[in-house]
This record gives sequence, structure tokens and C-alpha cells, in this order.
Amino acid sequence: MSDCIFCRIVRKEIPAEIIHEDASVVAFKDIQPQAPIHILLVPKKHIGRVMDLKPDDMALVADIHKIVQALARKFTLHESGFRLVANNGSNAGQAVDHLHYHLLGGRKMGWPPG
Ligand code: AMP
Ligand code: ZN
Repeated sequence: MSDCIFCRIVRKEIPAEIIHEDASVVAFKDIQPQAPIHILLVPKKHIGRVMDLKPDDMALVADIHKIVQALARKFTLHESGFRLVANNGSNAGQAVDHLHYHLLGGRKMGWPPG
């Protein structure tokens, strides 16, 4: 059992504003939102980052994309657009070593990212 902060949110040991939950995924509001809509999608299973995904995890990744589509519609980002980000490793600034996808929307965003 991992002690990481997102595992603790999955186990409801620390509070989070949960937007979606099913057998394998939890989505909750980012505590420091960088856009009007900023949701984190997290597998319940502890996976460190994209490079740690195993072939058996690919259905989970597909499920996360289905949930992204549903949340984009729910928050009416599906036409205006949104950004889906997974920071991986130190150069990307990954702060929490539990795979997560940021769903960001509700404002115009610049490119390239900082
Ligand atoms: P990353 O840099 O991709 O690892 O992003 C980690 C994200 O987790 C940051 O956007 C944080 O604001 C967010 N975060 C950290 N702790 C919590 C928490 N307890 N509840 C919600 N979001 C969190
Ligand atoms: Zn974890």
C-alpha cells in the first residue's frame, strides 16, 4: 500500500473535491487551480508515471480518455477546447509521483508551455 498523497486521496484519508469516481479512476479538483477548470484524473492503482505503465494498464489509459471526454462535455469544454497534460519526471516538473492527467480549460492558453 503506497503512502503517496494521491493514494491517500483515493483511500479518502485526505479530502478532495471528487468530480468522478469508478472502480479504477478518481477525478478531483486541483488544490491550486491553474485555470477556471482544473481537474486531476488519477488511476486508483499506484502507477508512478507514464513510463511505468505496463501493457495490462492500457485499458485503464483508454478509460481515462473516455472520462476526459465526459468531463469535457460536463464542463462545456468540448467545443471551446481544453488541455490534457501528464507531467513526467523532473524536466517536466512532476511533483506527485502517482500518474495523473491534468484537465485544464475555461481560458485561452499559451504555447509553448513554460
Ligand atoms: P504535477 O506537477 O503534474 O505532479 O502536479 C501535481 C498537482 O497536484 C499540482 O497541480 C498540485 O496543485 C496538485 N495537488 C497536490 N496536492 C493536492 C491535493 N491534496 N489535492 C488536490 N490537488 C493536489
Ligand atoms: Zn500513489
